[in-house]
Amino acid sequence: MSSIKTQSRILPRTPAKPKHSSWREELRQAYRDPQRLLDDLGLADQALSQHAPTRFPMLVPRAFAGRMQPGNPSDPLLRQVLPDHDETLEADGFVNDPVGDQASRQTRGVLHKYQGRALLITTGACAVHCRYCFRQAFPYSAEQAAHQHWQTALDYLAGETSVDEVILSGGDPLMLPTERLRQLTDALQALPHIKRLRIHTRLPVVLPARVTESLCAWLEGLPWPVVMVIHANHANEFDSAVDQAMKRLTLADVRLLNQAVLLAGINDSVDALAALMERSLAARVIPYYLHVLDRVSGAQRFERRDQDAIDLVDQLRVRLSGYLVPKLVREVAGHPYKLPLI
Ligand SMILES: *Cc1c(COP(=O)(O)O)cnc(C)c1O
Repeated sequence: MSSIKTQSRILPRTPAKPKHSSWREELRQAYRDPQRLLDDLGLADQALSQHAPTRFPMLVPRAFAGRMQPGNPSDPLLRQVLPDHDETLEADGFVNDPVGDQASRQTRGVLHKYQGRALLITTGACAVHCRYCFRQAFPYSAEQAAHQHWQTALDYLAGETSVDEVILSGGDPLMLPTERLRQLTDALQALPHIKRLRIHTRLPVVLPARVTESLCAWLEGLPWPVVMVIHANHANEFDSAVDQAMKRLTLADVRLLNQAVLLAGINDSVDALAALMERSLAARVIPYYLHVLDRVSGAQRFERRDQDAIDLVDQLRVRLSGYLVPKLVREVAGHPYKLPLI
């Protein structure tokens, strides 16, 4: 059985629901001030000097914050998003571009690292700033594929007939208006070598209101199989709003996969990982990858040793159905695929 806790997660002094239902309005109301978030969680006495501002400011939608446990400074969702003094320290081997994105850049906003798959950095914006994000130092201002009606990216894809899968990533591609995304897929339909569309996004989890009727209508109308890789690291990231968003996506004929990152102090136990896999399946999402941490500057507090990761996945295999066990991988710059550890 999963060990999902059922205690109330109503935040003190926070409206249960934003007044406006539009996802853009929800985004405007997101927490940007660590002190406000801590106050609303009943953690006002947490030493704030610990949460020094960095080049990567805090950003947390209220829908996500509403799933945090009030009064718990170790809450697994809070820990993913709360800036920490540790981020200002240098650590051996932790760098700005840990996975070699710059070396795989082909043209503005296009990374082509693996055979058959090209990844578009659609936009630099995201709805949540995860403290371990491996693209937190990415030069987004110069690298956005949506720039100038996607033309540079489309020109590149037209000339690369070996590419049969286009991956929309970011930032978060669902931060763009659906109409902008539709412009891209309309143009992609003129390229006969494109056979699949993949979307990597955290928005259905952190801002489920983004899964609107018009988004689903766009997805359902696409001529290719559509795979959506969501990103959840802990069972508590799911609630009924997320379940409903996933159900809408499923009804729009989207295949849902989850990728997670193994994060010290957040999901690094066999109980937490098993609960995550079971809870994501309950939301219609099949586990895909469990990444070991990309060694991005400032994220050192989240790292676990490879051997610990291997042992955890080995225990997961004992407990879970085969299809609930994610592939444990490390992204190695220059390697032609994500390297399995076990
Ligand atoms: C991770 C990644 C992919 C997708 O890899 P899969 O193993 O197919 O999920 C594609 N392109 C880039 C640049 C990536 O970083």
